[in-house]
Amino acid sequence: MLRQCNDGHRAPCPGSADDGENGVKIGILAVQGDFAAHAAMLAGLGAQTAEVRTVADLEGCDGLILPGGESTTQLQFLQEEGLFQAVKKFAAEGRGVFGTCAGAILLATEVKNPAQASLGLLDMSVLRNAYGRQLASDVFFGSSKLTDSPMEMVFIRAPIIDRVGPGVEVLAEYLGKPVLVQKANVMAATFHPELTEDTAVHRHFMNLIEASLRQAVSAAR
Ligand code: GLN
Repeated sequence: MLRQCNDGHRAPCPGSADDGENGVKIGILAVQGDFAAHAAMLAGLGAQTAEVRTVADLEGCDGLILPGGESTTQLQFLQEEGLFQAVKKFAAEGRGVFGTCAGAILLATEVKNPAQASLGLLDMSVLRNAYGRQLASDVFFGSSKLTDSPMEMVFIRAPIIDRVGPGVEVLAEYLGKPVLVQKANVMAATFHPELTEDTAVHRHFMNLIEASLRQAVSAAR
């Protein structure tokens, strides 16, 4: 199992005492929104989690979740705390970042309805609050590459992904629109996988993190 050494080198170091059961430590931006639900799901999967409110909190994490909530508030917090640049650097180093709903908005290269600054870590355009009233907040089932049967999807004032750039893989769709996408170490969902019993999306993110750690190890050789 890959673990991060205490001296900051990303290499296998079996037996690191403070790691979770499977050696992966996942930070969750904990400003507002449903960060606790992500923590509960990840804990059930054996990952260690850490609430992230400062740049120091982010250091030492193998992956980061940007949860649902209010993207405008979260954006302001990221900018005020220096986390905006720190998260960009974190992703540029190849570490896994997963944004759900408001988090997906923060990751997009283009935000519309209204326009808003963003981290620009995933080549896609999103329209905020765009599904209209009938789909404003409810549970639906959509097709996903991660599961054999349709995936349960909780939408809460969700954005629509109306364009994805080259190389962005669509992992799940609903009503003909991408709702779960990934490019390399960055993934985004417009729904809330942390609010269902289905652990497939979080397991996929944990696999992504493990793969990014393996890559970092082989690059260091
Ligand atoms: N509508 C919210 C926003 O634009 C996102 C909603 C959510 O994260 N559930 O930030």
